[in-house]
Amino acid sequence: MIKRPYRIVIGLEVHVQLMTKTKLFCRCSTKFGSPPNTQVCPVCLGLPGALPVLNQRAIDLAVRAGISLGCDIAPFTKWDRKNYFYPDLPKGYQTSQFDLPICNRGGLEIDAVDEVTGKQARKRISLVRAHLEEDAGKSMHDESQGKADTRIDLNRAGTPLLEIVSEPEISSAEEAKNYLTEMRLLMMFLGITDGNMQEGSLRADANVNLHIDRDGETVATPIVEIKNLNSFRAVERAICFEVARQYESFLETGLALGQAPKTTRGWNDVTGETELQREKEDSADYRYFPCPDLVPIVLSQAVIDEAKQKATKTPNSVRALLTTKYELKPTDAETLVQQGLKVFDYFEVLVSKGANSKRAASWMLQDVLRYVNENRCTIENYPVAAPELAQLLVAIEQGKLDTSRGREALQKMTEQPGLLADKAIDALGMVQVDSGEIEALCKVLLQENPDVIEKVRAGNDKALAALVGPAKKKNKNIDPRKLQEICKRMIETDGI
Ligand SMILES: [Zn+2]
Repeated sequence: MIKRPYRIVIGLEVHVQLMTKTKLFCRCSTKFGSPPNTQVCPVCLGLPGALPVLNQRAIDLAVRAGISLGCDIAPFTKWDRKNYFYPDLPKGYQTSQFDLPICNRGGLEIDAVDEVTGKQARKRISLVRAHLEEDAGKSMHDESQGKADTRIDLNRAGTPLLEIVSEPEISSAEEAKNYLTEMRLLMMFLGITDGNMQEGSLRADANVNLHIDRDGETVATPIVEIKNLNSFRAVERAICFEVARQYESFLETGLALGQAPKTTRGWNDVTGETELQREKEDSADYRYFPCPDLVPIVLSQAVIDEAKQKATKTPNSVRALLTTKYELKPTDAETLVQQGLKVFDYFEVLVSKGANSKRAASWMLQDVLRYVNENRCTIENYPVAAPELAQLLVAIEQGKLDTSRGREALQKMTEQPGLLADKAIDALGMVQVDSGEIEALCKVLLQENPDVIEKVRAGNDKALAALVGPAKKKNKNIDPRKLQEICKRMIETDGI
């Protein structure tokens, strides 16, 4: 590893849009992509006299997220107004949580490279807090007709967000990307967000600075907040750019933390640069005060218990199950985990109905997920129900048919949703070949392939596999396992 003259220090704030049907304090829909300003009402427009009513579902999801991140859930939490002026914020304040967030502390384990050994290792990034807040609207800058118009769409105003704030324990652009990837996976796994980054369901702000070694002393550079990073690539590129910029700027000016104000910079994906936006406000500038329109929240044990129950299967716990109980290779386990909880649930049904776990995983990875990807559907509308695929896998296990005929049966089952495995196997027109017939075939094959006999006599049983292809040509219903068993016995007993 190259030794840099500085250490990178990153803290991430991730905004997760909660999967509620309606907004945080009104009954407007949160659906994405509707015509501008069609999902608004007096509450989210901030009209005088309109009063907010809390969406309980947002609380449930926030608590679920907090539990999955190992946070302390606050039994008592409240709402505060964060006051600022911006055209996309019609109320003039954002309803947020200031000093009593719903979740405190906790952490997230990510993939990282050990700084000392240079090896892959897991690293836990601690969290400061996670709080609930409402989203603002969207400004749309219309430059298409040569006009410098800015229009406001308030459909998004009032959508519930959970802002998850990490400690500054992330030490590279790659770790930041891994953190965001794992956070998104966890939140999608538990049904907390749809995780659609193109639609803005998950966005991050990164606080970045450097700790530079200078004459045996460590000097920190002023902290820069990069706003609204809405893709993994943007996070990585923006941090890389900012690290280089800060180091250069420090060499030029020598300004350290405290000697220059904290600033906010925006990421420009086209130029690949961060651009100065403004000097960062202090929390005092926002004049936070408790929202007089909303009562504080006292969380009941029932809400916490339900969240606990909904957060039992996390990516980490599923990884552990797949590699230990189900004995899968870590790479296969990871591929399954990345597909989400529903895919794992499907896999578990296969195994619970008698399929061998490794065979089940291999069929999931090669056949089921390929179908799902190619047809752009989800596991929920994959045409073959898990118990039916399980039955097919068991039939293969029992030697009733081989893998390639099994694939033909599965093909039929995907073409005719609802077709039972038994029926699909019958439809292949498979006829049980009696053992006399197999023996006769074995004799012919061995006579035609004396080299195989020699190899088996020399202890190489795998050579028998070469007979399967020619055997299938002579009789497609032949069971390859039985064929190889009989051939082996014939060679051993000289019964050819
Ligand atoms: Zn509304």
